[in-house]
Amino acid sequence: MSFFVKLVLFLKIRESQVEINRERHNSMTRQMPLMFGILVVNMVALVFPYSDQVPVVVLWGVPSMFFLVFILCSHRQFHNYRQSVSDEKVLRDLNLTTGRSAVLGSIFIIWAFVLFSYDLPVMKIHIAFFLYISLICCAFFLMHVLQSVVVLTLIIILPIAIYAVVQGDLTFTALTIKSILVLGGIMFLLFSQYENFKNLVRQKVILTQRKNSLIEQAQKLEQMNARNEVLANVDMLTSLPNRRSFFAKLDGLIEQYENQKDKTLVVGLLDLDGFKRINDVFGHPTGDDLLIKTSERLKDVLGENIMLSRLGGDEFGLIITNEDDLKNIWDIGQRICDAMRVGFHLREGNVQVAATVGFVEYPKMASSARLLFERADYALCYSKQHSKGEPVIFSGEHETQIRDISNIEHHLAEADLTEELSVMFQPIVDIHSQKTVGLEALARWNNPALGNVRPDVFIRSAEQMGIIGKLTSILLNKALKDAVKWPTELYLSFNLSIFDLSSPETVLSMINIIEKSNFPSGRIVFEVTETAIMHDFKRANESLNLLKLMGCRIALDDFGTGYSSLSYVQRLPLDRLKIDRSFINEIATDMDARNIVKTIIDLCNNLNLYCIVEGVETKEQLDVIKELGCRYVQGYYFSPPLLADDAREFVKPDAKLRA
Ligand code: C2E
Ligand code: CA
Ligand code: CA
Repeated sequence: MSFFVKLVLFLKIRESQVEINRERHNSMTRQMPLMFGILVVNMVALVFPYSDQVPVVVLWGVPSMFFLVFILCSHRQFHNYRQSVSDEKVLRDLNLTTGRSAVLGSIFIIWAFVLFSYDLPVMKIHIAFFLYISLICCAFFLMHVLQSVVVLTLIIILPIAIYAVVQGDLTFTALTIKSILVLGGIMFLLFSQYENFKNLVRQKVILTQRKNSLIEQAQKLEQMNARNEVLANVDMLTSLPNRRSFFAKLDGLIEQYENQKDKTLVVGLLDLDGFKRINDVFGHPTGDDLLIKTSERLKDVLGENIMLSRLGGDEFGLIITNEDDLKNIWDIGQRICDAMRVGFHLREGNVQVAATVGFVEYPKMASSARLLFERADYALCYSKQHSKGEPVIFSGEHETQIRDISNIEHHLAEADLTEELSVMFQPIVDIHSQKTVGLEALARWNNPALGNVRPDVFIRSAEQMGIIGKLTSILLNKALKDAVKWPTELYLSFNLSIFDLSSPETVLSMINIIEKSNFPSGRIVFEVTETAIMHDFKRANESLNLLKLMGCRIALDDFGTGYSSLSYVQRLPLDRLKIDRSFINEIATDMDARNIVKTIIDLCNNLNLYCIVEGVETKEQLDVIKELGCRYVQGYYFSPPLLADDAREFVKPDAKLRA
């Protein structure tokens, strides 16, 4: 490659070195005003001694021009200092700088030769000295645009050197040679300095890129954390706050209210009755649809100020901070119950559910999040058992009950159950033949410390404690031992709990007991409630089918108190239905109760189910039942639950029934 081609390539600023060019541009523009300032001072120092020997225009023209450039650069530097410049402008400016340097050098050299023409003593040396000093000054200030330095040097040094040689002035020539050597040394330093500069810029670029990618990663991490935080606190199905969020909010409020003694809040728990049935029968997508619609309806009822969360399954939690009048709390609960009773239009058709709600007040009734939850749950369970369809607010009375329950649980855990449990039998009568057809076994617990504990109470405690299977086995064993002594046409009716049906161990243990009992399984009827089946429809159905395979029969107990639909009853392997005694209480006086019982009796006839009316206490009730066409009756009218021996007396073939 020829020298000129190399020179042209060198003079052209490289486009690809974007970051390096930018740094060069920055340092150049920053230093430009100072460079021109120094040059102006240098010029003034040069021309000042010759003011009266050279015309003013020749002497001051160039310095004045440079002074203007200095003002211009300073002004531009001052105003554009913080403005960002495009890559194209950087490249253009750098290339222009080389051109401008050529112009600068030419002006210097022409001016120098004009001044030389005055041929004043010492002035030549003075001018040459000025040129070299100015050149060194420019070389340092333009060190990051080496192209300009080279151009400037060539334009100034070459003519001067030629002039010195042509003139034959030894001093002048010696000064020129010295200056060329010094400038050569400086150029060498500048070139190696420029390499360092380029490396520094490259390192800076790498560091900046690393820093940016770290910042980017940190931002991504932050976004991910924020997203995870949202996901961890939101229920994906309903978009409501989830259980975690509910407790976090509750803990936060309690911490805040601990120091503000006048602040109260109310926690509510809400549970859907009949949800499990819909989920099991129609499938999970329908169940999900129902939960979404439920959450929307609840949001409409509760408004913005009450925090609604989905705690899991069909359980929802409320936190009410703006209401301390319990009457209003009760109204909120009632509004929820009313709203939930309205049917839902789902893909599968219309479905009906109901809500049960329990509330508890902070700090009066519970002072920690855990206790608030437990007590709201107690109020909810209480509502389910005692006041279906109406909200319950946890009260002092409930607290006493809890204490009693704890006491019962304590004794139940310690008791010798085989010794303390016994069974009584209540006859079931055929009013056509006036004969006992079977007896229902009813559990009794007599504890030395507590005395007789009501069966519904200790059965529930045993369920809560997870020991109901043990009780069921003991009771079934005892009932069968007595039942083998009865006339062979009588059947034994035995109550099962929710948890018996969902526990394969208990079912297997029952089968084992039946097989060892010498009592034909065909004479056993198991009574189950709707809630027992709803609890876990699939398992319950499997267990019931297993018992049916053994020859046992199944009765649906307390019918009419749950949320059964006819199609639902049909899906179960049922043989008989027991109408709950709550309908019978009013049957003699209330037309509605009578109509309901009539409908159920007709249903049983249509489905070929054996129908038993429970809780018949009076002659009037019996007469109405007869009139409605029901054949099998159980109740105090014929007999209360009897001790085993009395039951045996009662069922003797010659024993007379009450007419
Ligand atoms: P249930 O299965 O509905 O049993 C009938 C209840 O009604 C019995 O109460 C019985 O004494 C009562 N009763 C019968 N006739 C009349 C009447 O004419 N008027 C009135 N007011 N009540 C009458 P009990 O023995 O107190 O049992 C209560 C509940 O405890 C039972 O209701 C049943 O759900 C549960 N239970 C009793 N024994 C067992 C058992 O061995 N296992 C299980 N899992 N539950 C049992
Ligand atoms: Ca029963
Ligand atoms: Ca019953």
